[in-house]
Amino acid sequence: MSAPLNTSHAGARPLGILAALPQELGDLIEAMRAESGVRTLTHGRRDYHLGTVHGTPCVVTLARVGKVAAATTVSALIHAFDVEAVVFTGVAGGVRGDVQVGDIVVASTLMQHDIDASPLFPRFEVPLLGMSRFAADAALAERLAAACEQFVAEEGAACAARFGTREPRVHRGLIVSGDQFVASAAAVAALRDALPDALAVEMEGAAIAQVCYEYGVPCAVVRTISDTADDHAPGSFVSFLTGIAGTYSNAILARFLGAQHTAG
Ligand code: SAH
Repeated sequence: MSAPLNTSHAGARPLGILAALPQELGDLIEAMRAESGVRTLTHGRRDYHLGTVHGTPCVVTLARVGKVAAATTVSALIHAFDVEAVVFTGVAGGVRGDVQVGDIVVASTLMQHDIDASPLFPRFEVPLLGMSRFAADAALAERLAAACEQFVAEEGAACAARFGTREPRVHRGLIVSGDQFVASAAAVAALRDALPDALAVEMEGAAIAQVCYEYGVPCAVVRTISDTADDHAPGSFVSFLTGIAGTYSNAILARFLGAQHTAG
């Protein structure tokens, strides 16, 4: 085992915050820099930013894309940075018909839609763990959803007018993850058929939930819908990511971290 990093932080264990791509973090690192200053440690080809943001001690990093990247990064947050809990923020494709671009999904459970060791194990089951669905921490997910509801109540209409989306809705339920960008009507229809309660599809969340389950660390995942995982997904994803994702992330995290700080 390599030498532990010197990540000492006075008092409380920090919250780990991660996203796949820089646009999904919004201005979080700049906000940390302004509030407490930032200490950046490089570990496993990733930069981990330590400091306080909206009153909460945090370690902020980018996982990059896919389940392996996410599992690797969240393991480092747990073992090298001793985070108390993990929150993932990012974008996803809407799967259920009522989950539209601009909506927000907070995971209550997560699963890998592309894991399949059948006939040896049931489809979707993680072999030898005997599970397919991993729960987000109920209290953390509740606080994250409350921050989303507050954002929608306060800024939803203005956001919709500014971005030309419909007024955002907050959904809670199943998010599915796999190592594919889902971008065709046929592919999203197949997902709906196989997993009728899936709200959204992305590429990291279930890996994070599994690692957090195995190490007993609470986690929560929030995803803003950038596309509907159909043939329009590539264009919709890029324009949402570059133009809108940061605004949502800033607004949700400011409320979540502010309340977290007050609660703690
Ligand atoms: N070329 C892109 C790759 C991003 S892949 C880039 O690096 O800029 C899409 C990312 O957004 C993943 O992190 C995934 O979690 C999420 N996502 C958004 N829409 C998705 C969809 N329709 N299918 C799968 N993942 C999606």
